[in-house]
Amino acid sequence: MKIQSVISAVLLGLSLLGVGCHTVPQTGRSALHLVPSDQLASMSAAQFGQLKQETPISRDPTYNAMVRRVGERIAYVAGPDMPNAQWEFVVFDDDSQINAFAMPGGKVAVYTGIFKIAKSDADLAVVMGHEVAHVAAGHGNERVSQQLLAAGGALALQFGTSDMDSGDRQLLMAAYGAGATMGVLLPYSRYHESEADEIGLIYAAKAGYDPRAALGFWERMDAQKSGSVPEFLSTHPSGSTRIRKLNELMPKAMAVYQSR
Ligand SMILES: [Zn+2]
Repeated sequence: MKIQSVISAVLLGLSLLGVGCHTVPQTGRSALHLVPSDQLASMSAAQFGQLKQETPISRDPTYNAMVRRVGERIAYVAGPDMPNAQWEFVVFDDDSQINAFAMPGGKVAVYTGIFKIAKSDADLAVVMGHEVAHVAAGHGNERVSQQLLAAGGALALQFGTSDMDSGDRQLLMAAYGAGATMGVLLPYSRYHESEADEIGLIYAAKAGYDPRAALGFWERMDAQKSGSVPEFLSTHPSGSTRIRKLNELMPKAMAVYQSR
């Protein structure tokens, strides 16, 4: 079997599962989604449950109330883009992590370290808007799909000249499972970070938070680079690029904010 036919067999199999292209809300970009979203959501929920057991959860009432308040308002405005989300917002107790993350299906975690630079609800809305945007945009599925294509390509190279028997198919399916499971914890690409900034800014504005908070927030985040580099920054656009893009998006975000 030739490489192309192996790949097209994989894609055909996946498309029979009812997956394929996904239109990113707000930006309208077309993205490849190879994994059924309910499958990805249940894998993420399991991973998230495990993380909650391994990581101390903050009981600080102020932080928890702030994250729930802002998270629910952002999730509400993102709702039409993500009707099947099972939102869950958790505060992890780790002051050394200036970080937050989101997983497919609507699991969002914020580390207590973020409150060193998120001083107001509008500041926190920058982070949570960004994280909810990753989920609504389906970035997790796109990332997993890219991994699956790469894994499928590697297998196709390995088996490119032989006919595909049931053993090969089992290997393909095993790679599919491993790729999809690993993928939910992969970092996002720089492109996804920019897109999450853009969508997140609109969500924050729609939810009633002044989008201009994003400029100061990311400048303070960037200033943290001088010490140890927070993980949140590792794949993010450089500070000046990010601020320039946010300034370009600001008129649109301000129009949304003021028309509420
Ligand atoms: Zn991000």
